Amino acid sequence: MTQHILVLNSGSSSIKFQVLDLEAEHPDVPFLSGLVEQIGESRGHIRIVTENNTIEDRRPILSHSVGLERAFGMMSLLGVGPQDLDVHAVGHRVVQGGSIFNEPVIIDDRVAEQIGSLIPLAPLHNPAHLDGIENARALLPDVPHVAVFDTAFFHSLPDAASRYALNRDIADQYHIRRYGAHGTSHKYVSGLVPDIIGKDPREVNQITLHLGNGASAAAIRGGKAIDTSMGLTPLAGLVMGTRTGDIDPSVIFHLVREAKMSIDEIDTLFNRRSGLKGLCGVNDFRLLQELMNEGESDAQEAYDIYVHRVRQYVGSYMLELGRLDAITFTAGVGENHVGIRRDTMANLENFGIIIDDARNNNEAGVKGARLISTDDSEVKVLVVPTNEELAIARAAAELADS
Ligand code: ADP
Repeated sequence: MTQHILVLNSGSSSIKFQVLDLEAEHPDVPFLSGLVEQIGESRGHIRIVTENNTIEDRRPILSHSVGLERAFGMMSLLGVGPQDLDVHAVGHRVVQGGSIFNEPVIIDDRVAEQIGSLIPLAPLHNPAHLDGIENARALLPDVPHVAVFDTAFFHSLPDAASRYALNRDIADQYHIRRYGAHGTSHKYVSGLVPDIIGKDPREVNQITLHLGNGASAAAIRGGKAIDTSMGLTPLAGLVMGTRTGDIDPSVIFHLVREAKMSIDEIDTLFNRRSGLKGLCGVNDFRLLQELMNEGESDAQEAYDIYVHRVRQYVGSYMLELGRLDAITFTAGVGENHVGIRRDTMANLENFGIIIDDARNNNEAGVKGARLISTDDSEVKVLVVPTNEELAIARAAAELADS
């Protein structure tokens, strides 16, 4: 038996997708993955990777719909087109579900319209998602399409965590609140923790740290999120590859008045020219580490600011949770960078957090989820690889079968 689910993540100039077989022995390993990038540029790029084959196409791609149709055609050439695979459902990643969506939903015209109505809250992401949804629905009209929202997991935030101390009328009129992001990852990873530490999920208080190019922290009590670092948009919170994370909003007024910058320029500055990249020129942690090894002081300072911010969030979430069972690292940096785990967790013995260096270095070569704290560390510290595609595929399959 197979159960193929297509998972689509449509961005502004790219489409990433995977086909997962939920009935396979290792459903977390994609059956096929694909990338359509440089849409609308002079040179396009499509790559389809299966276990035995990789094919590429470098002709220009006029639009998202052209890109997706061509990618499906290339899959068919390999005998693994959506029709050949009898795709059971399509799961679409959607960044912003606003106050409307607190769980995955089957997409119909009304849902598509509602996702469109949320564009002002996610101007960079939702238009591309909507485009992807429309194109995929046109190409695969007989298959259920399911939207899975990055914000949904944070619907449960108490008002004290989700409401800003902003004028109530203005906030309500313009739907301004903390929506969070990366929820699919925080939910997936935190869902695996109780089993690993051998505790009843309803009793587990935990912090999850999704440290990738984007980065966020979440405080979770008994499976429900009670706080998170991202805000109205994914700009808030931790220091990221190119984003500032938390910053005094007055910096904006200051830049408008003193540097005569426009709002769009500041938007670009905060989202694309700041974070690690803005501090030391690189946003990839591997390059940052190389610069630090060479003694580059800007890189070292960028790293220190990053660590400082993660520790601020961990500290405040420990207090919010009252009692803490586990802290989990995930995503590209969290899963791979030994130093970040060591330094963000350093000198916390008084709080019951003790890292085991050999486990942190993964000297045993464990693949997948693992503990990195000592046996007598009261708070368990873990590395759990995230898999947002698998989480989306499962959600899509569940709704398609309901
Ligand atoms: P995204 O937010 O784009 O999904 P990922 O979770 O894939 O990001 O994380 C990407 C980041 O992870 C890269 O920018 C890089 O800094 C970091 N990374 C990936 N592999 C390693 C590694 N082996 N060592 C250190 N950092 C890594």
